[in-house]
Amino acid sequence: MSEPHRVTLIPGDGTGPELVEAARLVLEATGTRFEWEEQEAGLAALEREGTALPDRVLDSIRRNRVALKGPITTPVGSGFRSVNVGLRQALDLYTNLRPAKTYPGVRSRYEGVDLVIVRENTEDLYAGIEHVVIPGQAAESIKIITRRCSERIVRFAFEYARREGRRVVTAVHKANIMKLTDGLFLDVAREVAGQYPDIEFNDRIVDNMCMQLVQHPDEYDVLVMPNLYGDILSDLASGLVGGLGVAPGANIGEEIAVFEPVHGSAPKYAGQDKVNPTATILSAAMMLSYLGEQRSARAVEQAVAAVIAEGRHVTYDLKQERDDPTAVGTRRMAEAIAARVAPG
Ligand code: NAD
Repeated sequence: MSEPHRVTLIPGDGTGPELVEAARLVLEATGTRFEWEEQEAGLAALEREGTALPDRVLDSIRRNRVALKGPITTPVGSGFRSVNVGLRQALDLYTNLRPAKTYPGVRSRYEGVDLVIVRENTEDLYAGIEHVVIPGQAAESIKIITRRCSERIVRFAFEYARREGRRVVTAVHKANIMKLTDGLFLDVAREVAGQYPDIEFNDRIVDNMCMQLVQHPDEYDVLVMPNLYGDILSDLASGLVGGLGVAPGANIGEEIAVFEPVHGSAPKYAGQDKVNPTATILSAAMMLSYLGEQRSARAVEQAVAAVIAEGRHVTYDLKQERDDPTAVGTRRMAEAIAARVAPG
């Protein structure tokens, strides 16, 4: 029997613990073996240890190289630094990977969408270099694009496309206006594309890309872009396929990856066994794939699709009417998915 995968498990805040528990139930139903190292981060850690992201959490992730994480609350305006941003920076998780796929049974305006946003996670306007030029009148923010970060994110997109059997990579930019910064990103994307003759490459200007996505989302495959465009387009893509309850994600670096749903901690529903576990379970399926457990990953994804298509054991947000009394809770939906997962 193969060795279990050691994975850091961060339950998170709000609805995080119940969602992570739901994902664990499904993962264990696949027959793939795990050894979980549970690590508290977020508000409880802040109260107990004076920091929301203690070093022991980072050490655990560095040791295990893989983590499954629930959302963590970032209180507004209290000087509390986002744990999510902190994690990405401390571990240099330079890729934010967000698939957007339509599942029959999820309310959406589109069918046949199956695209992946590959967002650069460390530079661009998010470098946070801003200053006031004239108080109350003018401020300046500096956009940083480097060859190193552009190259590694575009290479990630091509390697991902190859590994996952995808055919086209599209670079998204505004190089017609930002000729030096986005121009560099596009030049590097073209250079890297030349090394992957088996994958088709094209590029789109970001505003045109938005229109194309709204009109023909089914025509796109892997989209790679700098940080700010990635932030905006990945939410747009979640909207194309039915919203936050079904949007999984991952933050991936050279040797470390943290898997988490796109949505936040939805604190008003905490402890109510109410919210949709799909995004967290699909993030867990991405983790299986990253760990080389392709069969288990496929089994989880197929089980999720089957339960949603059947529509019996789904949470309120997947029902036609949000107050449908036949909606089930987080745990019951996860149990229905787990029951359908054939051991890989
Ligand atoms: P949110 O994603 O928590 O909630 C937004 C809306 O989506 C809410 O109406 C909620 O009811 C709904 N929703 C979210 N997840 C759902 C699910 N699984 N099933 C059904 N409905 C769902 O966003 P927010 O309210 O802006 O943020 C709450 C907290 O989460 C904030 O503190 C924020 O900083 C944090 N946050 C954390 C992460 C992360 O940990 N990666 C990401 C985003 C936001």
